[in-house]
Amino acid sequence: MPIRKKNYKKRHSLRENCAIFGVTCDDIGFSVSKLLNQGLIALQHRGQESAGISVLKTGGNIHTYKKNGLVSRVLNNQVLSQYWGNVGIGHNRYATTGATGYKSTDYIQPFHFKNNEIEFSMAFNGTIANFSEIKKSMDEMGRVFMTDTDTEVLAQLIGSIALGTEDWPEVLKLASRLLDGSYSLILMTDQGDIYAMRDPLGFKPLCIGELKNSRRNLYFVASESCAIDVVGGRFIRDVEPGEIVHLSHQKDIHSEIVLKSKRTALCQFEFVYFARPDSIIDGVSVAEARLRLGINLAKKDPLLKIPEIRDNAIVVPVPDSGRGVAVGYVKESGLPYVEGLMKNRYVHRTFIMPGKAKRKIAVKEKLNPIKSVVNGKDVILLDDSIVRGTTTQQIVSLLRDKGGAKRVHLRISCPPIISPCYMGIDFPTKEELIAGRFQKLYDKDYIEEIRKQIGADTLIYQTVDDLIRAIGKSESQLCLACLTGNYPLKSVRKLAEMEESIVASRKEY
Ligand code: SF4
Repeated sequence: MPIRKKNYKKRHSLRENCAIFGVTCDDIGFSVSKLLNQGLIALQHRGQESAGISVLKTGGNIHTYKKNGLVSRVLNNQVLSQYWGNVGIGHNRYATTGATGYKSTDYIQPFHFKNNEIEFSMAFNGTIANFSEIKKSMDEMGRVFMTDTDTEVLAQLIGSIALGTEDWPEVLKLASRLLDGSYSLILMTDQGDIYAMRDPLGFKPLCIGELKNSRRNLYFVASESCAIDVVGGRFIRDVEPGEIVHLSHQKDIHSEIVLKSKRTALCQFEFVYFARPDSIIDGVSVAEARLRLGINLAKKDPLLKIPEIRDNAIVVPVPDSGRGVAVGYVKESGLPYVEGLMKNRYVHRTFIMPGKAKRKIAVKEKLNPIKSVVNGKDVILLDDSIVRGTTTQQIVSLLRDKGGAKRVHLRISCPPIISPCYMGIDFPTKEELIAGRFQKLYDKDYIEEIRKQIGADTLIYQTVDDLIRAIGKSESQLCLACLTGNYPLKSVRKLAEMEESIVASRKEY
């Protein structure tokens, strides 16, 4: 079925889930470049493939610098002293699907848009689900695209709407009405204004802060509040779902809710894995949510009632993602917390490394069991999630075979991930998700089959209800689509149906 295959591949074009950060300062003699660097380093966990900044000195032009690599490498002292301005935005990127090998800076953000009439720079976190349709319409209007990213489609769309007007809130409002997707974005105009916008369902976090002293006033916008803390700012508030916030040093903060939705859909995965524990998202502390997830797991753990196991048990987190939840488990159970896995800090996060082979090698390089503490023990291993299952399988076997653990009991803070995410996180097909695949194959027995496949002695997942309670929001405020298969976006529901039918048709042939 060549036509279907072609469509299927299309969905696997580049998508990003990233970090964005912006600063504006009323002192035009002050450069915000170092603050952009600090903010992006604080948000490095959200994307490690490339980094970039756009800066502008009020009255001057926008200058953009971007490159593949970690922030500390890309934004070295020479770059920071050269790229100078009192307003700026920055971006860390990780490309989700099949994105290795793209060396062109066209794929790196910020996306600097410039034609004869309009200039702006934009940094974006999310996925535009209906980007193919928007791109097709724009193709028909004669637009030429340099990349295959939804970022460029979004920038071109904004650029087209902005022709003939300087009313940026109106431009963004019109653009948002055409978009179906998860997005938090920041846009810097050539006048030195920054606009921050969050999609109506609020999938991705976005917040604002300030720093005021006798010499200058600064405003910040960031993917996570930890970045505002790191630059010494004061957190003001989250950008609301469907809100556009205008940050300008000439006026005060001005905002408008442009699209209101009955429900919201903050990504639960931010609390489980993605966000930094010292961040507060929509009023919820990520660290405290993880603590509650661990408490839940211990409360329901039947192992704790078996004296033979309890007396021999230690709680070991998978570093670093299992730590917060392990602390909660220990708090509730009273068992000893032991760092039984040594992590090499110089190997990046495995989940966000594109490509299975890369991830597999990275686990081996990254983790080593500490034999002296795990040997002969019942290891209660806490981790955030099981996606494909291969990483978890490797860790369990490391603890048993290299570390000498007597038994390995796996406790997972995220409920089984059964459906793909079309909103920007890289677990693209149901077939690649161990829980999705096994649920189809084994129905009610699928958790037991996952346990066998992974090689753990026991396996317990968080329930969806306990997850919702731990986050402290209602079901209608969260996206739980990867756990339930119920997608909150119209275009995504269509994509999911399309993918199901493609998988079915591939099996037929
Ligand atoms: S599907 Fe899962 S990972 Fe994707 S946005 Fe929803 S909750 Fe987050």
